[in-house]
Amino acid sequence: MTEIAENLERVQARLAKACEACGREAADVELMAVSKKKDVDTVREVVQAGQLLLGENRIQEVLIKQPELPSAIRWHLIGHLQSNKVKHAIHCRFECIHSVDSVKLMHALNKEAGEQGIVQNILLQVNVSGEGSKFGIAPDELFPLLEEAAGCMHLNVEGLMTIPPVSENPEKAGPYFKQLRELRDQAALETGFALESLSMGMSHDMEVAIREGATMVRVGTDIFGARAK
Ligand SMILES: *Cc1c(COP(=O)(O)O)cnc(C)c1O
Repeated sequence: MTEIAENLERVQARLAKACEACGREAADVELMAVSKKKDVDTVREVVQAGQLLLGENRIQEVLIKQPELPSAIRWHLIGHLQSNKVKHAIHCRFECIHSVDSVKLMHALNKEAGEQGIVQNILLQVNVSGEGSKFGIAPDELFPLLEEAAGCMHLNVEGLMTIPPVSENPEKAGPYFKQLRELRDQAALETGFALESLSMGMSHDMEVAIREGATMVRVGTDIFGARAK
């Protein structure tokens, strides 16, 4: 078994254990392998180990990797998306784009998805802490953005995504994950959107995110090893 396959098994076991600890079904939390900055051969290893859900943060990288790798891969975009890359982004046929954080970007994606004849699944990225990541909407911008989304016939808003401020202590992320879940609960109650997906938790804090309701964790380092700076 390759090192990456072993790492993958270890992370899958952590996911299962974290679910068990809080009384959730392991099947209700999906594992995304974040393959950014990893070359095609490395990515192929994780795919051969059975991991088909992959996250990338740059369109240019996806355009290079996609033709080289199996078509069964479920690509997700998790990095910031610039409006001038929207055409390529839609062309990549991501199963989901996690980083939608403005009305302008949403309208651009909707228009392009319409032109390419698809419905694009998206998540809205929320910066719950107001610090850390400079991307993502403030919590009070969520309702207005959802109102706009209601008119975007070529977008399907599946839920919310967040990146908490970096901290050594994974428990520090807990309150931010909880805030995202509560924001979702409130929005689901008051709008027509179910917002079932909560994309939160990375290598060092996936257990905390699962406890707070994550439906998808995004794990890079603990599957592939450290990335080049
Ligand atoms: C890189 C990245 C991850 C993975 O982080 P690790 O700490 O390597 O697990 C998760 N989410 C986003 C948005 C990322 O950019």
